[in-house]
Amino acid sequence: MSNHPLSVTLETPQTGKYEQPTGLFINNEFVKGVDGKTFETINPSTEKVIGAVHEATEKDVDIAVSVARKTFETTWRQVTPDQRGRYLVNLADLFEKHLDQLAAIESLDNGKAFSMAKVDVGMCAGCLRYYGGWADKIEGKVIDTNPDTFSYTKQEPIGVCGQIIPWNFPLLMWAWKIGPAIACGNTIVLKTAEQTPLSGLFAAKLVKEAGFPPGVINILSGFGKTAGAAISSHMDIDKVAFTGSTVVGRQIMKAAAGSNLKKVTLELGGKSPNIIFNDANIENAISWVNFGIFFNHGQCCCAGSRIYVQEGIYDKFVEAFKKRAQANKVGDPFAADTFQGPQVSQLQYDRIMGYIDAGKKEGAKVEIGGERHGKEGYFIQPTIFSNVSEDMKIMQEEIFGPVCSIAKFKTEEDAIRLGNATTYGLASAVHTSNLNTAIRVSNALRAGTVWVNQYNMLHHTLPFGGFKESGIGRELGEAALANYTQTKTVSIRLGDALFG
Ligand code: ADP
Repeated sequence: MSNHPLSVTLETPQTGKYEQPTGLFINNEFVKGVDGKTFETINPSTEKVIGAVHEATEKDVDIAVSVARKTFETTWRQVTPDQRGRYLVNLADLFEKHLDQLAAIESLDNGKAFSMAKVDVGMCAGCLRYYGGWADKIEGKVIDTNPDTFSYTKQEPIGVCGQIIPWNFPLLMWAWKIGPAIACGNTIVLKTAEQTPLSGLFAAKLVKEAGFPPGVINILSGFGKTAGAAISSHMDIDKVAFTGSTVVGRQIMKAAAGSNLKKVTLELGGKSPNIIFNDANIENAISWVNFGIFFNHGQCCCAGSRIYVQEGIYDKFVEAFKKRAQANKVGDPFAADTFQGPQVSQLQYDRIMGYIDAGKKEGAKVEIGGERHGKEGYFIQPTIFSNVSEDMKIMQEEIFGPVCSIAKFKTEEDAIRLGNATTYGLASAVHTSNLNTAIRVSNALRAGTVWVNQYNMLHHTLPFGGFKESGIGRELGEAALANYTQTKTVSIRLGDALFG
């Protein structure tokens, strides 16, 4: 058994000293892992160890699942829908109460700018409260078949849900997963990403404070190949929801197929087009294009990484966009004016630098950036490539960093063809002052979201998810309820036996 404590004192520049839970959160208690393992989490701004947390292995997943199963079959079913909603609203209130602390943990562990992390936490509260409102509005239908039967449907919870989340929005993904699953009456075993375990554990403490009964929400820190794989292949998990890379998404689906055919929803990668027409308001477009790719250091599945500019404004656009991107302040996430912090890990840093090298080798032109920023921490300069052809690696593959490619187009047809020239289909955007162009292009783009004259504007009421290889199912909005319910049909005979 590990000697590592279940809580440690940590410090953030913004909020000072605080108590950080480190255990696995099972049955409303923080506990050590059965194998006694721990792992360290790194501050990506300094490359130094922040601290260690307890690690879940397959055995801990088994324990958490059996707790979640028992809770689902017994106590949780007796809780009324409006009470489920109340728990979520309580949790939303607690997120707001601890907004600065949660945001500071996020910046410490993930490296995101504190000002942006605060927006994330506000969005978490919005999402949890929104699904709190849905809990007692999940309704079935009465379906008239003939006078001798009375038939209706019920939307029932799926059961024990495994949820595997990534490191780019540790808390937001936590809230997007937990909100709808709880509203619909499921129990949860959620695994955070190994790069960013801290904020999810602090939020677990708030779960208990919000009044959730034991066993409803269980939070595990651990690695993908062990704890993650144990979730996706578990015989007693009814559904797995995953956000992360397309490569791992495929593995999750295979594991689900090879075990108990658990239901699967996936929110995966992207290579989203951002299309700017000659008639766009160029200043606004530049601002949104900059935000579209460099927000969260390019670590967004919906990042607008392929930028297509119509030929009439191309030169002017590239010059102005370069200036705008160079003005993005890169550095300490806790500095008030920082827009871009470090990438999350050495591995991500190396991957991104590998793509930058590939772009250079394949003959794309580096307009700005292309190098490391500073001496310590995983910082990368905002990087813009031009002269990029369709077949280049940097135009085809998801880079997940502050790197974008710009290319020129002539006609609307070209823009649509180029926009759709990807195996992904998560997001897209069009910038134009012509309403007809906006609607025609939005209709033609094969992506789950089309932003017009804006970018990255997610909202808890608006469904989000992928066409093509970007995923299965939708998160947020009413649409997410379909991920966490199953339809039961009840049909009652009123008349005599049919074949009497
Ligand atoms: P990235 O490559 O950006 O780190 P991943 O898709 O690997 O993104 O990780 C997203 C989440 O998936 C993390 O919580 C990670 O631990 C988990 N994960 C990684 N590999 C597997 C796997 N084989 N099975 C289940 N979960 C996994």
